[in-house]
Amino acid sequence: MRPWRELGIDLYLKYKTDVFFSTRVKIILFHIFSLAVTVVVTIGLLKYIQHITLTGVLEMFNTALSTGVKPVDPFIELNEDVESAQYFVYCSIVAISLFFGFITTHIALKPLHKLVITQKRFIASIAHELRTPLAILKTQNEVARLDVEENSPIQETLDQNVEEVDHLTEILNNLLLFNRIDNFESISFDSVDLETLIEVTISKLKMFADKKGVTLTFEKTPLPYVYGNATGLEQLFFNIIKNAINYTLRGGKVIIKSTAITEHEVTVCISDNGIGIPKNELPHIFEPFYRIDNAQKLSPGTGLGLAIVFEIIKLHSGKINVKSAVGTGTEFEISIPRHSQDMIKNRRLHEVGVIYDFSQKKEIKKT
Ligand code: ADP
Repeated sequence: MRPWRELGIDLYLKYKTDVFFSTRVKIILFHIFSLAVTVVVTIGLLKYIQHITLTGVLEMFNTALSTGVKPVDPFIELNEDVESAQYFVYCSIVAISLFFGFITTHIALKPLHKLVITQKRFIASIAHELRTPLAILKTQNEVARLDVEENSPIQETLDQNVEEVDHLTEILNNLLLFNRIDNFESISFDSVDLETLIEVTISKLKMFADKKGVTLTFEKTPLPYVYGNATGLEQLFFNIIKNAINYTLRGGKVIIKSTAITEHEVTVCISDNGIGIPKNELPHIFEPFYRIDNAQKLSPGTGLGLAIVFEIIKLHSGKINVKSAVGTGTEFEISIPRHSQDMIKNRRLHEVGVIYDFSQKKEIKKT
């Protein structure tokens, strides 16, 4: 008796503490329940068919006996009744299965959903906690650098420390941004002056481009306002232009220009003549933390820049096309809706998705 009791307590504790075990139990119980409902409903409906068949036949015989007329028409009528009752049974079984399937999926995905939220909170709090000590570390290194001899090995070490701290801070900032971005309700949309926004972004990256020996050109044409979130759009252009500079060798060029302005959207193209992206890597570049081996040599990135771009494009119901050839360069084409109705229209068109036109020949839709 005792082992059974202990087993019961163990299972109860497991149910209470292990979210995957409790989900499994819930799904099994729910399946038994749905099976019972289906059996009860099917038996009920079959009984109903049996009832209408029997009463129909009985009525037919009674009529035939009392009138002496051969029952041909009533048979056809009865057959029709039985057939429609059968259809009703099939439809009911399909509807019940769909309904229970939907609820089962909901039960199965609930812990996963909770887990993602907890994970995001966890990442956000760690990133927050780490930002302050990193800032202190950077200041201490910079202060220490003032007291050491120019071009000495200690100065070199301190400079490397600052670079590493900057890189870590960038990773943390990107993590925080990536975590926040899908909170759609907290992001406001308005008319955005795209031309000024691109100019501001370029001015922020000008020094970086100069340092890397890359020419940054904005082939300006008057751009209309778009409908979006200014901070998000600036981040989007910042990430793509920064990548273009990062992955272009000294003496290379990055060009930003508008390629199409339609009634509904504005398309901006950012092209570079940098190292390019291998064809087999293209479908993965928007995945979080995905970096290509040869990029590592040029820039100590985080692998989050394009994942953030992907989320911002999704929020704007926009489109992004990437074309690239190794050794020749890369071209990112971004389309942003001009009006709020266009956002809705685009969303319907692309189902809140992003179109990748990776190789001109192939088109992959991702939602
Ligand atoms: P990060 O630049 O921090 O590594 P991203 O998510 O911004 O991360 O980019 C993912 C990868 O895509 C990069 O590591 C790089 O290999 C590749 N990539 C992005 N933009 C370009 C570009 N303009 N030219 C070549 N490779 C690029």
